[in-house]
Amino acid sequence: HPKPFTIVATGDLVKEWEEADQKHSLWESKSELPVAGFNYGDYLKKTAKAGAVAVEVYANRGIENVYLEVKTRLEQLRELYLQRQGSPRIRGELLLNQVSITPDFTDFDTTRFSDEIASQVVKALLFFEPFMGEYPFRKLAVSQIPGRFSQGWPSLLYVSSLSFMSPEQRMHLGMGTDREADFLECLHAHEIAHQWWGNQIGWKSYHDLWMFEGFSNYFGYLFMKEKHPDGKQFRDLLRYSKEKLLATNSSGQTYESAGPVWLGGRLSSSRFPEGYPTVIYDKGAWILHMLHYLMLDPITGSDQNFRFFIQNFLTRFNGKLIATDDFKRMLEKNIDKGLDLEGNKKMDWFFDQWVYNTGIPTYRLDYSITALKKGGYQLKGKIKQQNVSEDFIMPVEVFGRFGPDKIERLGRVVVTGNEANFKFALRTRPLKVTLDENNEILCQNKTL
Ligand SMILES: [Zn+2]
Repeated sequence: HPKPFTIVATGDLVKEWEEADQKHSLWESKSELPVAGFNYGDYLKKTAKAGAVAVEVYANRGIENVYLEVKTRLEQLRELYLQRQGSPRIRGELLLNQVSITPDFTDFDTTRFSDEIASQVVKALLFFEPFMGEYPFRKLAVSQIPGRFSQGWPSLLYVSSLSFMSPEQRMHLGMGTDREADFLECLHAHEIAHQWWGNQIGWKSYHDLWMFEGFSNYFGYLFMKEKHPDGKQFRDLLRYSKEKLLATNSSGQTYESAGPVWLGGRLSSSRFPEGYPTVIYDKGAWILHMLHYLMLDPITGSDQNFRFFIQNFLTRFNGKLIATDDFKRMLEKNIDKGLDLEGNKKMDWFFDQWVYNTGIPTYRLDYSITALKKGGYQLKGKIKQQNVSEDFIMPVEVFGRFGPDKIERLGRVVVTGNEANFKFALRTRPLKVTLDENNEILCQNKTL
């Protein structure tokens, strides 16, 4: 390839040399890879180390043509808008109100962010390894591609250039909302998670893809929680996912009702144009989030069992293709107490509700608190579970609000069907009793 440019490929660089005024390089992988590819551009390369893994970041010295086209088009729209001001029907008006276009803004170079990107990639790798086991390759290269599209290939990430840009640069391209920023911030972590979910293990058929996209999404969200320990971004990301699932199509049906996650690519249709990405990515993430919650130690709140499970699963199927049922069977083997709701060591209840079916429950709560003669209080409550089938079953956490910053978990109630009654003895009287304060269930919560 021509000399001034740089090439980066899957696998490890064995040697590079010059010949007939061209650059050549040889790349090799130590094991079979599901896909192989390369990226090529005018990059600045930065390196860092995550334990034994070499992290490489390839940042563009310029901006790709597609973004310049976006910018030119925005400038044209702005001029049109200025000429026709007063006409509310002009297309693009809404967009232009949010965009600050200065035609002389040309600073789209991303190389100055490469050190920070490298350090975040190192952090993500060090965060994921205790969860998912040793990183499966020797190096991890992160490189830019134009557009919104991103992919995590073995040891080589192709990520949207938007994720390399600063919020200011994105704003000048009309892509500057908070939602977009949260999404782009966890994009690299999502693609890094694919090194395990997609490269270390693969999917048997389109039915099983939900685990790879949904779980990579969830690990991206978890990394945001690690990065921002107050948990705001993590909660926001889960909320955005829920909102997308509850958003309705033109006939007023929720996107979640497009079909079970297990239907994969068939979820997109003329009725649900965004059915596939919404259900696979957003419900898939929520499914793993709910398993994470159900496997928490009820006393200590530790998620050690979940971590062991994920690691054992990835080790057990290393280098193999897996089906949804492999995941279910692995959960049933040494089933966690919090998952064995039916006492038969089976996960049918969970998979039948969340994987092979549709439906998001709505929760309401009626309760009364009585002072007891011997001291303390009795809380009597009735949890109503609606908008799901009669035999829908889900463990729900009950919380007491004792002050503005004092929210305590009171206990867990397994709700089956339309309603469940419970009684708890309390030492102090809560100001308010609520459900699912930690957003552990994909539900509509009417108690907050
Ligand atoms: Zn993905």
